[in-house]
Amino acid sequence: MNFKSSYIKLTLFYVLIVMVISVTFSILLYDVSSREIDRGLGHDNRIMQEVMPRLNNNFPEFEQLRLMQIKESNKRIRNNLVTVNLLILVLSTVVSYFLARRTLEPIEEMVEAQNRFTSDASHELRTPLTAMKAEIEVGLRDKHSSINDLKELLKSNLEEIGKLEALSGALLKLAKYKENIINEFADINLKEVVEKSLKNVAILAQEKELNIKSDLENLKIKGEKDSLNELFVILIENAIKYSPQKSSINISLIKENDKAVVKVKDQGVGISSEDQKRIFDRFYRVDQSRNKIKSNGYGLGLSIAKSIVDLHKGTIKVTSILGEGSEFAVRLDLMQDGG
Ligand code: ADP
Repeated sequence: MNFKSSYIKLTLFYVLIVMVISVTFSILLYDVSSREIDRGLGHDNRIMQEVMPRLNNNFPEFEQLRLMQIKESNKRIRNNLVTVNLLILVLSTVVSYFLARRTLEPIEEMVEAQNRFTSDASHELRTPLTAMKAEIEVGLRDKHSSINDLKELLKSNLEEIGKLEALSGALLKLAKYKENIINEFADINLKEVVEKSLKNVAILAQEKELNIKSDLENLKIKGEKDSLNELFVILIENAIKYSPQKSSINISLIKENDKAVVKVKDQGVGISSEDQKRIFDRFYRVDQSRNKIKSNGYGLGLSIAKSIVDLHKGTIKVTSILGEGSEFAVRLDLMQDGG
């Protein structure tokens, strides 16, 4: 979509509206004022007709002078109106261009983001497909492939299918939360939701021998249980994924003013301030080549998390020091009675 030409079209449209109003108004103004002058002259003439004979002056000459004056006044009004309209034309063009930009810029950004998303998603889908296709082609060409070789090939293909499944699952979730396709909000105990999320990822933590400490207050909010569970699973899973073996992860749920605050704090690789600005973007992954963490994520976890927080009209913030650890804090409105 060419937005440059849309800017110009919208500008012309705005200018057209302004000029139609301005020209119509000018024509009416001209009409009213020339009629007023005519009326004034008629009135003056009647007085003069009475006064002139008495002053013994030449009335027709005087009438001519008045007619010239009226013509001159009309001409001046016309010129003034044309000048004003030209000024309005210039001014409205400039203002309309700025207005058109302000109207279209957010739409342009949205379309660009959508295009970027489609191309990123296609790219991510293509990578496993290309790998699978290449393996199958090699397998078919090799006439001496044993059953074991073919089994290996199928195993590898299955891995790629697993990746595709994970990717399409993540894309579906993202679409679901963006489109607000979730259950009705209900009164929920946030502590129970966080505890459930902790259970969901317990195995991963055990594998890395991590020490997970949790300190959870009993707080109630209005929300959707499953999506919130998903949110905390993403945050805790990331904390586990980006932490070294045997380190600690702290999870807290506390009340701060009228908010319930869930914090997930790790002693992992940390995130640079540059990356902190972009980690919630779809498909954004930090280059982990400098540390030993091998991530097979698609960079969709935190954008799903952000969509869930947005659905609950909450906020999510990250504070992190590279090499020392990260803390993700989610703030959600507490229920009126304080939970
Ligand atoms: P991914 O599936 O790749 O983990 P996410 O959207 O969940 O995608 O995260 C985006 C990026 O943010 C990741 O690539 C990772 O580098 C970084 N990140 C997220 N959580 C943490 C964390 N707790 N510690 C360090 N880096 C993190």
